[in-house]
Amino acid sequence: AAERLANKIILITGASSGIGEATAREFASAANGNIRLILTARRKEKLAQLSDSLTKEFPTIKIHSAKLDVTEHDGIKPFISGLPKDFADIDVLINNAGKALGKASVGEISDSDIQGMMQTNVLGLINMTQAVIPIFKAKNSGDIVNIGSIAGRDPYPGGSIYCASKAAVKFFSHSLRKELINTRIRVLEVDPGAVLTEFSLVRFHGDQGAADAVYEGTQPLDASDIAEVIVFGITRKQNTVIAETLVFPSHQA
Ligand code: NDP
Repeated sequence: AAERLANKIILITGASSGIGEATAREFASAANGNIRLILTARRKEKLAQLSDSLTKEFPTIKIHSAKLDVTEHDGIKPFISGLPKDFADIDVLINNAGKALGKASVGEISDSDIQGMMQTNVLGLINMTQAVIPIFKAKNSGDIVNIGSIAGRDPYPGGSIYCASKAAVKFFSHSLRKELINTRIRVLEVDPGAVLTEFSLVRFHGDQGAADAVYEGTQPLDASDIAEVIVFGITRKQNTVIAETLVFPSHQA
């Protein structure tokens, strides 16, 4: 794995917590620090902490951490074209930033929660891809990992918007992979089941009790379990694409 990752430039959205943060750690470790990471999210201080911690552990690592809100669509292309020279030629895009907001029926869920999910999970992910793909096409090489969800396969009442957003991720990924079939650009989709992150805290707008209740009596995965799967997918031979992966805790129905 370390050889295949050597000196690669990896951009991660939503790297400030959960699966995004764990993925940054997993790439750093799998590459033995011989890698360049572009860490993005809205919370710059969390990115700075992650960057410090990785630099301490892997002195050879190169990190560019920067605020990037994927819902500010007009800012995405300038962000990509304005990357420092050492980080400009991206090899891997991890479209991880995403969220569920609320758990409520259609008609009751707030308009801002609907907007928040669609703008982040769908339009954010598509606009990131739109901005990065010309770099991949120019060199006929690159990998895109889209983080979907079990919710995009197995919908549930009260989750209509989130489920629809993740189904959109699935079909965007699937279609894009077919569009790029005669290129050396791979599209991977990883769909997690329950993972213990800040996900539920965000979902319930900071209500820790409601967030904890989601996991009561269950054994969710750690973010690192998903990160391992992402790095596994990226480090396969060029002729292999792990196109869709559903990753559950073994106890989840
Ligand atoms: P977290 O809430 O811990 O992480 C979400 C990340 O997305 C944070 O780093 C957050 O950073 C970032 N983010 C949110 N909004 C934006 C934005 N507008 N622009 C840029 N970054 C943003 O949750 P997870 O790690 O669990 O979630 C990661 C992905 O996994 C999501 O796509 C989620 O839908 C998916 N997933 C999670 C599951 C779970 O059980 N945890 C199950 C299935 C899928 P910041 O706030 O700093 O911007």
